[in-house]
Amino acid sequence: MPPVTSTDLLAQAKAGIREVDVYEARQMVAQGAVALDVREQDEVDQGVVPGAVHIPRGFLEFRIENAVPDRSRPIAIYCAGGARSAFAAKALQDLGYRDVVSVEGGFNSWKGAGLPWSTPKSLTPDQRRRYSRHLLIPEVGDAGQQKLLEAKVLLVGAGGLGSPAALYLAAAGVGTLGIVDADTVDDSNLQRQVIHTTDRVGMLKTESARISIEAINPDVTVIEHRVRLDKDNVLEIFGQYDIILDGTDNFATRYLINDATVLLDKPNVHGSIFRFEGQATTFIPHDGPCYRCLFPTPPPPELAPSCAEAGVLGLLPGTIGLIQATEVAKLILGVGEPLKGRMLLYDALGSEFRELRMRRDPACPMCGEGAPTSLDEIEYTDVSCAIPVGLLTGVA
Ligand SMILES: [Zn+2]
Repeated sequence: MPPVTSTDLLAQAKAGIREVDVYEARQMVAQGAVALDVREQDEVDQGVVPGAVHIPRGFLEFRIENAVPDRSRPIAIYCAGGARSAFAAKALQDLGYRDVVSVEGGFNSWKGAGLPWSTPKSLTPDQRRRYSRHLLIPEVGDAGQQKLLEAKVLLVGAGGLGSPAALYLAAAGVGTLGIVDADTVDDSNLQRQVIHTTDRVGMLKTESARISIEAINPDVTVIEHRVRLDKDNVLEIFGQYDIILDGTDNFATRYLINDATVLLDKPNVHGSIFRFEGQATTFIPHDGPCYRCLFPTPPPPELAPSCAEAGVLGLLPGTIGLIQATEVAKLILGVGEPLKGRMLLYDALGSEFRELRMRRDPACPMCGEGAPTSLDEIEYTDVSCAIPVGLLTGVA
C-alpha cells in the first residue's frame, strides 16, 4: 500500500467536515458563532477577524474547552488558507463540538473579499516573557494582558492598603497607576506600608511609590497626584481613570470617594482595616449598593476611634489590599464575580473570612431617588477611620 500523503489526510479531513465561504462565515459570526483563529502568533500579528478567539493549532485540543465550554455553540474556524482549519474542525468534531465549520480560503480570502479585519496590538517579546504566566491562563491570555496594560487605575492613598495593591497591580502589568497622596513617608509607616523604604523617610509618598513601581515594571506609567482630595479636585482626577481603589483611612475622604464614583459611575473597590480585622467590597454604582446605602452618614466620633489611637496589625493591610487589587484585576479582565453587594470580613486572629450580603437602599442619599447630581451641597467632615461592623445598615 502506498504511504498516506498530507494531501490524502487533508482530503479525508475535508470529507468529514463542513466548509463555508467567507461570507457565510461572517454571517455566522454576526449571529453569535465563535470565530476561532488557529494560526501561529506571528500570523495573527499581521491581522485578525475582529473578536476572534486565538488558539494556535498545536494547542487546540488542550485549550478549546476553556475557551468554548459549550459544545453546541457554532464555531467558524479559520487559518491562513483553509487547510489547518479543516484539520482543526475535524479535531473539534471528534471532541464532541456539534456545529463546527472550516472557512474556505481562510484569512487570506476574508481579507481579499474586503471583509472587516484589524491588526491586534501585540505584546513585545519582553512582555511575552514577563507576563508568560498570565498568557497561560485562558481567562487572561494575550487579550487580557492587553486589557491590563491599557487599564487606568487610581489608588487613593499610598498607605497600608495602597502599598500592596500598587506593588501587585504594577507587577501584573496594569499600565497606568495614578496615586493620590499629599503625605510624606514617616518612619511609623514602614511597619505596613511596604512600597516605601527606610531611606525614603521624608520623601513624598507618591514619589516613593513611583520609584518602587518603576523598579518592578517599566511598563507602568505612574501619575502622581500630590494633593489632598476635595470637592474641587475629585471629579477631575477620578475622570481620568477606569477604576478607583479606596485605600483611605478617614471618613471624610471615604464619603467623598463614594459620592464621586457614584456621580461618575465608576467602580469603587473599598477596603478598611482595624487592629486585627479588615473589610473589603466592590461598589458598582447603580448596580449594587454604594457606601452610603450601608452607612448613610458618618457615625458619631465616640463610636469610632481614630486609626492612630486604634492601631493596626502591620500584616493585615497586605491581605485586604491584595483582595482589593484582585478585585480590580477581575474588573479589568471581566472575569469572575466581583464583591458586589457583599462585604468580605477578615478576622486575622481567628483566621476567618465571613461575608455579609448587602443591598441597595432605594432611599440612599447618594444613589437613591432624588440623589444629588453634584457635590456642591454635601458636607465632608472628618470623623475617624473605621465603622464597627455592628453599625452596618442594609445588611440582608
Ligand atoms: Zn447608595
